Amino acid sequence: MDFTLNDEQRMIYGYGEKLARTWGHDYWMDKARKHEFPREMWQQMADDGFLGAMIPEEYGGAGLGMMEMTLLMEGMSNAGIPMLMLVVGPTMSLAPIADHGTDDQKQRWLPAACRGESNFCFAITEATAGTNSIKINTLAKPHEDRFLLSGSKTFITGADVCDYAIVVARTTPHTEVKRKTDGFTLFVVDLNAKGVERHPVNINLPIPETQFSIFFDEVDLGLENVIGEVGKGFDILFDALNPERILVAALCCGIGRFALEKAVAYASEREVFDVPIGSHQGVQHPLAAAKTQVEMASLMMRQAAWQFDQGLPAGEASNMAKYAGAEAGIQAVDAALQAHGGNGFTEDYGIYELYPIVRLMRTAPVNREVILSYIGEKVMGLPRSY
Ligand SMILES: Cc1cc2nc3c(=O)[nH]c(=O)nc-3n(C[C@H](O)[C@H](O)[C@H](O)COP(=O)(O)OP(=O)(O)OC[C@H]3O[C@@H](n4cnc5c(N)ncnc54)[C@H](O)[C@@H]3O)c2cc1C
Repeated sequence: MDFTLNDEQRMIYGYGEKLARTWGHDYWMDKARKHEFPREMWQQMADDGFLGAMIPEEYGGAGLGMMEMTLLMEGMSNAGIPMLMLVVGPTMSLAPIADHGTDDQKQRWLPAACRGESNFCFAITEATAGTNSIKINTLAKPHEDRFLLSGSKTFITGADVCDYAIVVARTTPHTEVKRKTDGFTLFVVDLNAKGVERHPVNINLPIPETQFSIFFDEVDLGLENVIGEVGKGFDILFDALNPERILVAALCCGIGRFALEKAVAYASEREVFDVPIGSHQGVQHPLAAAKTQVEMASLMMRQAAWQFDQGLPAGEASNMAKYAGAEAGIQAVDAALQAHGGNGFTEDYGIYELYPIVRLMRTAPVNREVILSYIGEKVMGLPRSY
C-alpha cells in the first residue's frame, strides 16, 4: 500500500489551502452568519476545474479521483473553509451520474455542473425513516412508461442553490420487496419542476449552506431521470457513502488543524503566571494529544481514499476514517477552546464558532453509533444488534 502524494496531488492540497486563505475564513464566516452561499468562491472553484474533479475529462471534468477530492477538502479546511457543499454536490451527486448514468445523461448534466452553471444536492433523509433509510416512503409510482414521484425529504443541504437533486426513492414499497435493499431507484429531479416545493429547515449552525425539506407531489419523471437500473439503486447509493465518509473525515481533520494552529499561536503568546501558557503541560498536552488524533485520522482517511481509487473494498477504512476524523476534530476544537480561555468564546478569536461544524459530523451524515455498529459487526464479526 503506497499513498504517498504525487506532485499533482501536492499541488491540489496546496490549491485548497491557498484558495481558502485567499478568500479567508472571515469571508466564510460572514457568509455563514448571513446563511448566504459563497457563490463567488464556488464559481472560482468551477473555473479552476475543481467542481468536476472526479468527472471524466470528456464530460468537462478533471478526471481525478477520490484522493484528489479529499485533498482539496482537507486543504481548504486546514485554512478554515469547510465546504459541506463539496460533499453533497460534486462528490455524492455528480460522481454517481458519471459512474452509472447513460451517455445522454452525462452530456446533459455533467459539463454544466462542472462549469458551475448548475448545482446538485443529494436527498435521502426522511423525517419518519431517519437513520433507517430502508424505511423511506417517498415513492415513484410507475405510471404508463413514466413515474409519479410523491413524498418528502428533509435536512437537504443546499437545496435553495441547487437546480437538481439526486432523490433516493422507492419504486417498490419496503413492505412489498423480498430483500429489504430491493426496490430503491435514484432519480435526477429538477427542483423547479411542477409538484416540487422547498421549505427551509431552521438549522442552528454557523455554516453558509442551508437545509431544506423538499416535498414532491406527483412529479412527472421518465426513464431519462433514472440513474442506473430501476429498483437497483441501493448499490449505487452504497457507492456514494464511502466518499461521503472520507470527505467528512477530511473536513474534520482540516478544521482540527486550523483550530490547533490558532491555539499554538495563542498559547505561545499569552502569559499568565509569568510564562506563556503553552509551556504548562496542562495546556500543552491536550493540544499535542489532539494533534496526534488528527494526524492518525488523516492517515486513515488517505488510506480509505487510496483504496477507493484502486477499486479495493473501502468500507472498513472509510467508516473508521469518518469516526476517527469526527472525534479528532471535536477533540482538537475543544482543546483549542480551552487553551484560549475566555477569549475562545469571542468572535474575534473565532474558536467557538468552529465547534458546531465538527460536532455535526458525529451525528450526520451518519451517526457515530451506526459507524461503530458497522465496525463491530461487519469488520469484527460481532453479532448484529438491529
Ligand atoms: C446540517 C445537516 C445537513 C444534512 N444534510 C443532508 C443532506 O444533504 N441530505 C440528506 O439526505 N440528509 C441530510 N442530513 C440528514 C442526516 O443525514 C440525518 O440527520 C442523519 O442521518 C440522522 O438521521 P435523524 O436525524 O433522523 O436521526 P435518527 O435516525 O432519529 O437518530 C437519532 C439518534 O439516535 C441514534 N441512533 C439511530 N440509529 C441508531 C442505531 N441503529 N444504533 C444506535 N444508535 C442509533 C443516534 O445517536 C442518532 O444520532 C443532514 C442533517 C443535518 C443536521
